[in-house]
Amino acid sequence: MTLSALVFILISVASIGLFAWKMKSIVAQIKLGKSVDRSNRKADRWKVMLLVAFGQKKMFTRPLVAVLHFIFYVAFVITQIELIEVFIDGFSGSHRFFFHAGLGRFYTAVISSIEVLSVLTFIATLIFFSRRNIIRLPRFTMAELKGWPRNDANLILFFELLLIGFIFLMNSADEARLNILSNDSYSFAVSQFIGPLLADALGNLDTLDVLSKIGWWGHLIMVFIFLNYLPYSKHLHILFAFPNTYFSNLDAKGKFSNMESVENEVKLMLDPNADPYAAPANDAAPQRFGAKDVQDLTWKQLLEAYSCTECGRCTSVCPANQTGKLLSPRKIMMDTRDRLSEVGNNKMNLEDGRSLLGDYITPEELWACTSCNACVQECPVNIDPLSIIVDLRRFLVMEESKIPSELTGMLTNIENNGAPWQFSPADRMKWTEEN
Ligand code: SF4
Ligand code: SF4
Repeated sequence: MTLSALVFILISVASIGLFAWKMKSIVAQIKLGKSVDRSNRKADRWKVMLLVAFGQKKMFTRPLVAVLHFIFYVAFVITQIELIEVFIDGFSGSHRFFFHAGLGRFYTAVISSIEVLSVLTFIATLIFFSRRNIIRLPRFTMAELKGWPRNDANLILFFELLLIGFIFLMNSADEARLNILSNDSYSFAVSQFIGPLLADALGNLDTLDVLSKIGWWGHLIMVFIFLNYLPYSKHLHILFAFPNTYFSNLDAKGKFSNMESVENEVKLMLDPNADPYAAPANDAAPQRFGAKDVQDLTWKQLLEAYSCTECGRCTSVCPANQTGKLLSPRKIMMDTRDRLSEVGNNKMNLEDGRSLLGDYITPEELWACTSCNACVQECPVNIDPLSIIVDLRRFLVMEESKIPSELTGMLTNIENNGAPWQFSPADRMKWTEEN
C-alpha cells in the first residue's frame, strides 16, 4: 500500500467516524422528544418527500432564488459521482479510474456537466453572498441572524468557492499534462480551455503534477471539512429535509392536535348527553400540559428544528412580524435547535435550570401569533413553527395560568357558558324569537 493510500484511508476513517459520532448525538437529542405516530399513509408520504424535498416544489414560489438553489442542489448531487471516483482513486492509488476503465465519452460528459454546473454554482454563490452582505435583504439581517448564523451562511458559501476552485485546479492541471504529453485533451467542457493556457504558462510536468495533486487532495479535504461541519450548521437540512418532509403532518392546516385528556373533559363539559363514566381510549394523565422545554415537544418537532434552513420565508410572511411584533417563526425554530443542542452538549442534562420557554422564547413572542399558518404554508421543507408555539402556549395557560388579560374573559365564558360570549346557554336561541 502506498503512503498516499494510507493517508487517504486514515483521513477518511477519521472524518467519517467523527461525522457518525456527531450524528449519533443529534439523533439521541431528537429521540428526547415525545412520541407521535407518523407511520400512516406511506404512499402520500413518499409523494410529499419526492415533491417537496427532492423536487424542491415549494421553492418555486420565488422562481429566481429557486433556480439558483436548484443549481446548487443538482451540482451537489452530480458531484457525488465524481466523489465515488475520488474514493476509488484514493484507495487504489489510481488517477481518474473511470476514464481509464474505458468510460471515455460518458466520463467526459459527466465531468463536463460537473464543470458547467460548477461555473453556474460559482455565479449563484456570488449572488447569494451579495444578497446577504451587500444588498442585505431584510430577512437576512434580522436580529436572530446576527453572529454565528450569519457567519455560518457565509462560511458555507466560502467552502463552496474553495470546492469549485480545487475541482478546476485538478481538471485544468490534468488537461495541461495531457496537452504537453500527447497534444491531446480530455475535452472537459471548461478546463479543456484552461489546460493549454496552464501548459503554456508552466510547461513543466512535475509542477502540473503537483497542482493536480493539490486539486485532488484539496477537493477531498474540503468534502470532509464540509461533512463534519454539517452537524453544526443550518446546512444539515441537505440531509434532514428528506426525513422531515416524509414525516410531514398530513392533516389539514389549522387542525389542532388536541390533548386527549383535555378533549374528553371539554366534551363532558359541552355535551349534555356525554357519559361521564365512559372510559376514554387513553386516560393516562399527561406528564405536563403543553411544553416548557424540548423534551415536552415531539421527536418530529425536534427533527424540524434541526431541518430548518434559516431561510426566513416563514418570518417574511408572518403577519405578527410584519406588524412589528417580537415574533419570528424562524427564531422559534432556531431557539428550539439551540436549546436542544445545549442539552446535548450538557450530556442530555435537562435539569440545568434552563428551559426553552423563558430562557429562549418569551411569552410576548408566543402571544403575538395569530395562528394563521402562513409560516407553515411557506416553509420549503414543511416545518411547522406554529405547533411549537401552540404547545408552549398550552403550558403557559394550563400549568402556569399565565394568560393575557384579553383572553381571560373569553376562557371564563367558555368554561361557564360553553361559548366565548357572555350569554347563558339557556338564552342561546333567543335570537330566533320574534319581538
Ligand atoms: S402562524 Fe403565527 S408564527 Fe406563523 S405566520 Fe401566522 S402569526 Fe406568524
Ligand atoms: S421554518 Fe422553514 S421557512 Fe422558516 S426559516 Fe426554517 S426552513 Fe425557512
